[in-house]
Amino acid sequence: MIGIQFNNNKIFSNKTNVIPKQYQLLINDINELEKTLKDLTDIELRIESFKLQNEYKETQDLNSLISRSFALTRESSLRTLGLRHFDVQLMGGLVLNSNKIAEMKTGEGKTLVATLPASLNALTKKGVHIVTVNDYLANRDQVSMGQIYRFLGFDTGLIQAGMSQTERKENYQSDITYVTNYELTFDYLRDNTTLNRKDIVLPAFNYCIIDEVDSILIDEAQTPIILADTSKDTSVEKFIIASEITNYLEFNKHYIVDEKNKNVTLTELGSQQVEKIIQTQDLYNPRDPWIPYIINALKANSLFFNNIHYIIQANRIVIVDEFTGRIMPDRRWGDGLHQAIEAKEKLAIRPRTETQASITYQNFFLMYPKLSGMTGTGKTSEIEFEKIYNLVVEVIPTYKPTKRLDLPDLLYKDQFSKWNAIAQFCNSVSTTGQPLLIGTTTVEKSDMLAQLLNEYNLSYQILNAKPENVRRESEIVAQAGKKNSITISTNMAGRGTDIILGGNINFQIQKELYDILILAKTALKQFKNLNDFEKYKLRSVRHNLIQRIRRLKTITQRCSQKFFSVLLTLITDKNFIELSDIDVLRILQENDRVAIPSISYQCAIRFLLNDLIFSTQKHHKQENKIVKNLGGLCVVGTERNDSRRVDDQLRGRCGRQGDPGTSRFFVSLDDNLLRLFGGQKVQQFLRNQIPDDSPIESSMMTESLNNAQKQVEERAYEQRKNLFEYDEILDQQRSIIYFERRLVLESPSIRNNTLAYGEQIVCEFIKQVKKKEIDLNQMIKLFENLFGRNLNIKLISKNYSNLTEFDNLELQNYFFQEFWLTYQAKINQFSVYGNGNKIFRNFERQVTLLNINTVWQEHLEKISLLREAVGWRGYGQKNPLTEYKREAYLLFTERKEALIYFTLYQLFRGTII
Ligand code: ADP
Ligand code: MG
Repeated sequence: MIGIQFNNNKIFSNKTNVIPKQYQLLINDINELEKTLKDLTDIELRIESFKLQNEYKETQDLNSLISRSFALTRESSLRTLGLRHFDVQLMGGLVLNSNKIAEMKTGEGKTLVATLPASLNALTKKGVHIVTVNDYLANRDQVSMGQIYRFLGFDTGLIQAGMSQTERKENYQSDITYVTNYELTFDYLRDNTTLNRKDIVLPAFNYCIIDEVDSILIDEAQTPIILADTSKDTSVEKFIIASEITNYLEFNKHYIVDEKNKNVTLTELGSQQVEKIIQTQDLYNPRDPWIPYIINALKANSLFFNNIHYIIQANRIVIVDEFTGRIMPDRRWGDGLHQAIEAKEKLAIRPRTETQASITYQNFFLMYPKLSGMTGTGKTSEIEFEKIYNLVVEVIPTYKPTKRLDLPDLLYKDQFSKWNAIAQFCNSVSTTGQPLLIGTTTVEKSDMLAQLLNEYNLSYQILNAKPENVRRESEIVAQAGKKNSITISTNMAGRGTDIILGGNINFQIQKELYDILILAKTALKQFKNLNDFEKYKLRSVRHNLIQRIRRLKTITQRCSQKFFSVLLTLITDKNFIELSDIDVLRILQENDRVAIPSISYQCAIRFLLNDLIFSTQKHHKQENKIVKNLGGLCVVGTERNDSRRVDDQLRGRCGRQGDPGTSRFFVSLDDNLLRLFGGQKVQQFLRNQIPDDSPIESSMMTESLNNAQKQVEERAYEQRKNLFEYDEILDQQRSIIYFERRLVLESPSIRNNTLAYGEQIVCEFIKQVKKKEIDLNQMIKLFENLFGRNLNIKLISKNYSNLTEFDNLELQNYFFQEFWLTYQAKINQFSVYGNGNKIFRNFERQVTLLNINTVWQEHLEKISLLREAVGWRGYGQKNPLTEYKREAYLLFTERKEALIYFTLYQLFRGTII
């Protein structure tokens, strides 16, 4: 390893270092305006902001407000955070406002850039969503950037995991809301399954900025987001009893089978029979429902057969694709059907969560009328962004020229020599004190490297991107630029936190002060409730506190005399003791320079913070200089990733804001990427070239690696494109359903909807008779079953199997009337309970919504089965996507029929419990 020539070293540089003219002109405007804003007081600035809002109200035109709004935001950022947007950041903001992706390198200040288009678009009062990759970042950005918005008179919201419905709703009502992609998408899915209008949390979509946009729209867009239904009780017992009961039910007397739609309904007699057996008054009781179990058991008996629809393999039901005969081992039928069949076959019953709703990120984010994103690495995926999301990627020049040094890859013969070389390399770098960041592709590999470093007695921090430790992870990453620090991290860990050479003092001080304040708070709380017997407790806590402060003192070296006296007053302030831990954290994070805090403990905390920062700064500047002289951060890649973008992400962790920095990748011939996509010949050739212990640098290998990456990237892209194309079809259906659903949810009465359902079902059945799919007798039976009473059809001649013998329209009218009578009778029945009309309206709505949910859920299940089947079936010349489209459409129309039938059926049977 030692003695390798670093030839062909590449200094990373931006191709375009100038701002394009179309942006420069606007930027000049903004710079001009800035001068006039300088003289205004804070209040006058806010008035300017309100003026813009009013102007938008009148003109409905944002474009004419861009420069004024940007200039205002810049000025308020300077006055609140002390940060003035650079011109390149203004360009970033302009790009974001024009529905594009801004590629800005790590550390260029994307968080601040987003405030420009966010404030501008907040003028519309229609809501702006800023999407981040984790809760920690959403919180961090909302708290810090919130100060700018507040200054301008906008309010901000923040969504975090675990928040209640009410909190979410409130936060989404804000002008600007920070939220993760995960929470946002789930809120959308939940909104579209809710039964109460007041539970809806999301307003209509307006404008969205996605931070780390490639991570969300590409890396995470490989699979759909699924809202699982956990409300269903899967009591195993009920499946078994229901299966037993079917032995006492007669076909056509107690139940009716609709083979075409694969549906079963109980007749009135059937219901009575079941109620008698299980001794219940109401099969439909939502608190103890029996009906789904009975129906599924009947379906299992009469519609699903062993060796046709499924086979039994190792005591499990395995679905057989009807069309190809292939088995589908991992699939299960939804909504309890699978369990019902297991019960029928007397196998063990396995519960499972069901998909209640699902969507892909692709289709989700496309719902925003105005969408934009930012990332350090977007250009390499620009085709995908353009084709799927219609987003152009624009590269923003860096504020300072980049000085990062990307060293050529080193190629080893096998894993063994590669990892040894990495450990050795880390060891030799660490002797100089230069900070090291080592990226690995998996947690296992991180652990393995850690073992190797142990052998060299090196100390390191190890990190992975588990959601539960994002905060800790950000803290560690923030310190990764300190002298002597070694950080091993999986590639995604700590995204969004920038690495400052010499360490991030704000972070460090915030954390230390937070710990001390919490400790003091707890100690004082204890003191309040203390009795003599517990005095020893106080002593130990106080001791601990003093220790901590001493430790802090060694970090800060010398803080002012006043520091300790303020600390002492603070921790005896009784209002301070009552603060929650989160409150303390918030006060620490809001380094508010403008609004002078009116509350004394806030004042004190801010003093402590600033005092510490001030006294540490000088020391920190020295540290920063030392690390710069050592060459900045050294980034080590331990294998090339599947995509160049991810490699660039890792490289981009160093060389921030014009800092020095180096990056180097170690690869081996048996790395996955080279092994699978490197090409046989190249492999063979290289194998002969590499000596046993030392690496080579070869342009041929680099070429081969680049090709391999391209192949993998294209493949992954094809997969996502495929997912998108298929989901697009489902998406059209989804928007129809969600639209219909919203109408049902929001209109004061859905009477007309129910009447339309009635007409549709009548027409549908008559159509089926005409097509000879059912005969008239069957139709009458179906109606009798639906209405729950016998029909006395006098107007039709005896031989009514022939439709020509009576008037089509007459028949239709007859059934309309019967339907209407049944409906009216039901309403009357409810009127017995006083305010019957209102109760019935609610009941009607609930039944309809519930059925929309379950039928949609079943539809999703069928669609995913279809999706799988389509992939396997040979279609000859036909395009599977077209076939999928056709069949998905058929399923969709069947779904509507089922929805109507079930809704009416339950409506006519409903009683008040
Ligand atoms: P990115 O998301 O682009 O990687 P961040 O938004 O995390 O970068 O910002 C990196 C650092 O740069 C932060 O510490 C931020 O305070 C600082 N910064 C951003 N914009 C400016 C500015 N205009 N002037 C000074 N510092 C800035
Ligand atoms: Mg960022």
